[in-house]
Amino acid sequence: MLDLKKIKNAVDSAYQESLVESGGANADYIPYLAQIDNQLCGLSVITTQGDIICVGDSQYRFAIESISKVCTLALALEDFDAQTIQQKLGASATGLPFNSVMALELHGDKPLSPLVNAGAISATSIIKAKSKEERWQRILAMQRKLAAAEITLSDELNQSEQTTNFHNRGIAWLLYAAGYLYCDPMEACDVYTRQCSTLINTVELATLGATIASGGVNPVTKERVLQPENCPRILAEMTMEGMYDSSGDWAYNVGLPSKSGVGGGLLTVIPGKMAIAAFSPPLDPIGNSVKGQKMIARLTQELGYNLYKCS
Ligand code: GLU
Repeated sequence: MLDLKKIKNAVDSAYQESLVESGGANADYIPYLAQIDNQLCGLSVITTQGDIICVGDSQYRFAIESISKVCTLALALEDFDAQTIQQKLGASATGLPFNSVMALELHGDKPLSPLVNAGAISATSIIKAKSKEERWQRILAMQRKLAAAEITLSDELNQSEQTTNFHNRGIAWLLYAAGYLYCDPMEACDVYTRQCSTLINTVELATLGATIASGGVNPVTKERVLQPENCPRILAEMTMEGMYDSSGDWAYNVGLPSKSGVGGGLLTVIPGKMAIAAFSPPLDPIGNSVKGQKMIARLTQELGYNLYKCS
């Protein structure tokens, strides 16, 4: 049995301690993200039993961005077998920034991971769909089922991204040229950009993670969303690349599968127990939320969770 009081105290102190942290800066290559209040800060825990513990701006809806890659990977694993996903998208770290073209060049244009932009655009393209609208609706439906919430697209954010996503369009064409894109490249890029442009709060994000933590059954709706065998694969991918090119350092220091987004969200999954979602917009140079990392590192240490712990 989890000690909910202990978790609540640990959540509160991790949040309080992070408030003095002032480093980092909002992402500004997407204009919408640059103007978000950088003082917003929230932290939520959802256990696999459906208990909810939250503090701060936990209800504020922020840009899901790269964390959407987890949902699309989950759907791709539902659509195909794990070996196909490994072969077509990959399951390794690139060791390079999330939108690196060099990472493609170095690996025969194979994306290596569905959690970097190239692999995520490829994952979007592989989803079974007869039209662009169906591709988008299936991905949105997966976000909603995982988060147990009516996740919606922000038109303002989507507009901001669609009119500045030239680098991602270039990546899509490179993938297409190399045979790693499975629908029209601009369809894939458009839908990928939309999936990054939905809004989510930390309670919903923690629910999304807790669905994976519980082996695919959403702890809030009790609906089976994912096949149990897909959850360890998702978590392995998160371990390898979920914190961009500092995923190794995160595994070394925190030891838990996580995924961050340039909107300032950060999700950590503790298999079989709970998920933690943090939000604070200022990012470190690699693209991970400064306060988010602080809060989750502090909280998981306090609760004694680390996958690599031996006793
Ligand atoms: N939409 C963003 C992009 O494609 C997501 C990046 C991220 O959160 O890592 O650049």
